[in-house]
Amino acid sequence: MKFDFDVFVIGAGSGGVRAARMAAGEGARVAIADDHALGGTCVNVGCVPKKLYTYASHFSHDFENAKGFGWTLGSADFDWPTLVANKKKEISRLNGIYANLLNNSGAQIIRGYACLKDANTVTVNGIDYTAKRIVIATGGTPNIPDVDYSDLLISSDDIFDLVEFPKRLLVVGAGYIALEFACIFQGLGSQVQVSYRGDLIMRSFDEDVRRFVDQEMCKQGIEMNYQSQVNNVSRQDDQSLLVTFADGSTKVVDQVLMAIGRKPRLAGIGLDKLGIETTTSGTIAVNENFQTNIKNIYALGDVTGGIELTPVALAEAMVLVNHWYGDGTKRMDYDLIPTAVFTQPNVGTIGLTEHQAKEKHNNITIYRSDFKPMKHTLSGSDERSFMKLIVDASTDKVVGLHIVGEGAGEMLQGFAVAIKAGATKADFDATIGIHPTSAEELVTMRTPS
Ligand code: FAD
Ligand code: NDP
Repeated sequence: MKFDFDVFVIGAGSGGVRAARMAAGEGARVAIADDHALGGTCVNVGCVPKKLYTYASHFSHDFENAKGFGWTLGSADFDWPTLVANKKKEISRLNGIYANLLNNSGAQIIRGYACLKDANTVTVNGIDYTAKRIVIATGGTPNIPDVDYSDLLISSDDIFDLVEFPKRLLVVGAGYIALEFACIFQGLGSQVQVSYRGDLIMRSFDEDVRRFVDQEMCKQGIEMNYQSQVNNVSRQDDQSLLVTFADGSTKVVDQVLMAIGRKPRLAGIGLDKLGIETTTSGTIAVNENFQTNIKNIYALGDVTGGIELTPVALAEAMVLVNHWYGDGTKRMDYDLIPTAVFTQPNVGTIGLTEHQAKEKHNNITIYRSDFKPMKHTLSGSDERSFMKLIVDASTDKVVGLHIVGEGAGEMLQGFAVAIKAGATKADFDATIGIHPTSAEELVTMRTPS
């Protein structure tokens, strides 16, 4: 049978664009549909604008720190509309780059919401397109609780473009998004409070890291509230929001950011009609070749409920295209994926937490370092850095590496290569440090703690 396309990709985000471009590069006739701006979550409401805002918020710390180095600065004023406008300009530029990349690869961009009609047909704006293979790369959307005050809550999708800068911000949740935005807005001048249902932030991270980040965030003036549950939010006459918690306490804020995880974006796409299997969390079930139970329909990225990171979606797309057009030997390796949380200071982490390492290995050795970075000997800031190595004593392999400190994400990428290559503690010890850096600490830790 002759199809309109060899590959039809639904969703032009991180994974979809990569799959479309790579497949088109192999000579396939490719279409890619999206009903939002090209680039998906990462480019439009995720990694990119988040990192730009992180830079913006860092200046307030830098201005403070500069005094200890002899600088006298006038009063520093922050203009939110300027940041928003400049961010928009940059994101539009990136949207254009994504369009060019796709056009130059030969993939056809189709604008609009796509849904599945049958196993070989996708409908967009009432037009049917047939394809030999279909890829669902529709990503996710923020979870907003189904409560009668939900219209008073905002998500990470909304926060970038708020018209009014929130002078008082309540952040609900204590994962990546909650903590990154708490730090961003504290740095930009908001009074930030975090409300978390558990006992300590960042549940899946190493305990020491969790405690350390909590302590650093508190030092910045962010109010951390544990065992905290929002019960109601109501608009007051002065437009502020009155938040009532389960323990009866109240807070008045300007915005409430819900950062309690994300769910797959699949509503109305037609999974039921085709009988495409989903997992208990509603994500699409796929095999190691990203194939659903319908053999010519594939899914990748956040919509499959794996590790929700852009480089993971990109890597999955590469494996998929190799499966179709290459030798088919590539497999996605989910082991030792490095990740950074762009809190202030940053967190960089790869491998096992201490708790996981104890469960997996009989005998582990831990090296810890908690120190004042050289910059802060003059800056007057009491910010500290933390580093931790977890070593499997029987093989000497470094099985976990955790950093909290300025530039932790940048630092971690290089160490991640070493760990992925199986570096041992002896390899770390044999590596000459770069002085004076914070990173040298990781190759000079000699005494287990
Ligand atoms: P997405 O990028 O979400 O793309 C899905 C696309 O599909 C969207 O463009 C959507 O409009 C489109 N779509 C959905 N349904 C349809 C339909 N039926 N028809 C047509 N189009 C459709 N990851 C990192 O690695 N580093 C970070 O620093 C980072 N920061 C983040 C910050 C925030 C605030 C958020 C929310 C996420 C962040 N992430 C980060 C995660 C990262 O953005 C995602 O893991 C990544 O974008 C997933 O890519 P994807 O291709 O699966 O989906
Ligand atoms: P996370 O899973 O990181 O965190 C969700 C938070 O919300 C947790 O603290 C969780 O608590 C809490 N929570 C979950 N359900 C509820 C509920 N019903 N009521 C109250 N609290 C709840 O999700 P995010 O939304 O922060 O981010 C989504 C994903 O996006 C991340 O997992 C990450 O993969 C990606 N991302 C990556 C970034 C990066 O690479 N720097 C930055 C931003 C996002 P508990 O732990 O108790 O379950």
